[in-house]
Amino acid sequence: MRYVEPVFRPPSEGPSLLLQATIGCSNNTCTFCGSNLIKKFGVRPLEEIEEDILEARSLYGEGIRRVFLLDGNALCMKTEDLLELLNLLYAVFPHLERVGLYACAADALRKSEEDLRELYKAGLKIAYLGLESGDDVILERVLKGINAEQTIEGCKKIMNAGMILSVTIILGLGGHERWRENAIETAKTLNRINPPYIGALTLMVVPGTPLHREVLEGKFQVLNSQGVLQEMRLLVENLELTNCVFRSNHASNYLPLGGTLPHDKKDILKVIDLALKKASRIPLRTEKHRRL
Ligand code: SF4
Repeated sequence: MRYVEPVFRPPSEGPSLLLQATIGCSNNTCTFCGSNLIKKFGVRPLEEIEEDILEARSLYGEGIRRVFLLDGNALCMKTEDLLELLNLLYAVFPHLERVGLYACAADALRKSEEDLRELYKAGLKIAYLGLESGDDVILERVLKGINAEQTIEGCKKIMNAGMILSVTIILGLGGHERWRENAIETAKTLNRINPPYIGALTLMVVPGTPLHREVLEGKFQVLNSQGVLQEMRLLVENLELTNCVFRSNHASNYLPLGGTLPHDKKDILKVIDLALKKASRIPLRTEKHRRL
């Protein structure tokens, strides 16, 4: 198995076979993102990926149940190439239950509804998509390259094709200046998407990124742990979802939480309030233990 390091995967894909289909991210503009500082975007040749699939079978046997396609947005691959990979994966691993990947909303917008349905039917069951923030001012500042309205459209296309959608957001992305907007606009956007899964990360400033320069120049003030908790509280308070698993279990978060909304909303808010109290007995993850 060949990997161009570092590689990232969602926490819930821990047990999955990681297969590198693309290297880096085709968007590669976000000012906070360090995952691509040292990687030039590229799609790996199909033959190479297929060799890795066969190698995985000889290494791990036929029992693989989940596969996650790396890297930053493997959905940007041509539909016919993705279909070829999916078909080979399900043929080689007879117990395979699902294949997942990271996606940009722009990738979903570029594909036809028919293409996305075909991919779902071929076994692409879950897509993890970074909304990051629902506030257009923040999205513009961090050069996300897409606004909230377009992201909502991309997300709906993915869900309409039948795939499970997990939306990632970043607490603290608006810094001190826009923490309220980050919470409220992100909640409004999530309410309109109404995804079955939301994963909250907390901003970590990666040395070498444009955002890091902004911090050094005093143009961006990073929220401290209390500020992040306040923002998370405001976000959760404003979420109006039908049936959504909300998690902040990523290693970047100060307070790992999880629950189903709307059912557990009161409990989640209660835990955040307890953690916000002075001399709270709820331990927060220390800076030393936070990571991406
Ligand atoms: S789209 Fe995602 S992976 Fe690509 S640069 Fe932005 S945050 Fe990084």
